[in-house]
Amino acid sequence: MFEYESSWQKELAKTITDPKVLLTLLDINTEQSEGDFAARQLFPVRVPRPFIAKMEKGNINDPLLKQVMASALEFEEKAGFVADPLAEHESVLPGVLHKYKSRVLLMVKTGCAVNCRYCFRRHFPYQENSLNKQNWPKVITYLQNNPDINEVVLSGGDPLMASDKHLSELIALIETVDHIKRIRFHTRLPVVIPQRITSELTQTLLNSRLKTIMVLHINHANEIDELLAQYLSKWRNHKITLLNQSVLLKGINDSVETLVELSERLFEVGILPYYIHLLDKVAGAAHFYRADEELVSIQQGLLAELPGFLVPKWAREEAGLLSKSPVVLS
Ligand code: SF4
Repeated sequence: MFEYESSWQKELAKTITDPKVLLTLLDINTEQSEGDFAARQLFPVRVPRPFIAKMEKGNINDPLLKQVMASALEFEEKAGFVADPLAEHESVLPGVLHKYKSRVLLMVKTGCAVNCRYCFRRHFPYQENSLNKQNWPKVITYLQNNPDINEVVLSGGDPLMASDKHLSELIALIETVDHIKRIRFHTRLPVVIPQRITSELTQTLLNSRLKTIMVLHINHANEIDELLAQYLSKWRNHKITLLNQSVLLKGINDSVETLVELSERLFEVGILPYYIHLLDKVAGAAHFYRADEELVSIQQGLLAELPGFLVPKWAREEAGLLSKSPVVLS
């Protein structure tokens, strides 16, 4: 479908931001979707071409397209769906969230390569809350003063939006804090632009004394194509721990069959299913929500169909709690 760029930055520069262009590339008639296009004012559309290449042409209901296509449903206001469902807009330092005792989250970069319509941070004021380089010394002091923290989670936006050099400098600083053992990335960028798995980044991670965990964000088996599998093999071969978290999304992956296929496909490419999150009630995403009672048979179906190591933990995050809440439906 596309000639890919060899560098991720060049591919990023070709990201599609116009929903009409997105549909046209997929040979989908744009007339019936005119009413949806305005939702880009609520949250911009961003879809990299390697992600579009995994979608089925002519299918307006493609499960990957539905995750990224603006929809008029986003204008519907629904009780309980708010701008900041996890009360994250307050942080200990700009760009630093310390919600859990042993882990601290650094918001390394504002923005993502892809804008997922269900994102719980779609209203997040990144401008006030991103970690800029001037604040790095303060972050290191904070880590030094909090010996309970043993893991640094790099998030965003998407932390891999930062350049390899930027990440290598930040990791080198974090390494100076003796009680930090692990560094964990939460990223969707390699899923939408596999070229982001560069040799330079891989080498930085390999040379670090910190154990690296990459938590990818994949919601549907169709997101894992051969291109992604090839690039992921670089990390697999270097024994970087690869985990996945998904969000349970109405009309996209809310069936036993789809989630079993996702777990099987993840394992084929060396990723273990880690979490499946119930949707955070963020304004504009109510059309992706399914109530707990509708999900009982899905959770039971997964337990029946999959070996335990391929069943992701079901969880929801709740504002103010010291850990994610496990979700056991019955
Ligand atoms: S990649 Fe993650 S943080 Fe970025 S828009 Fe998607 S869900 Fe949100």
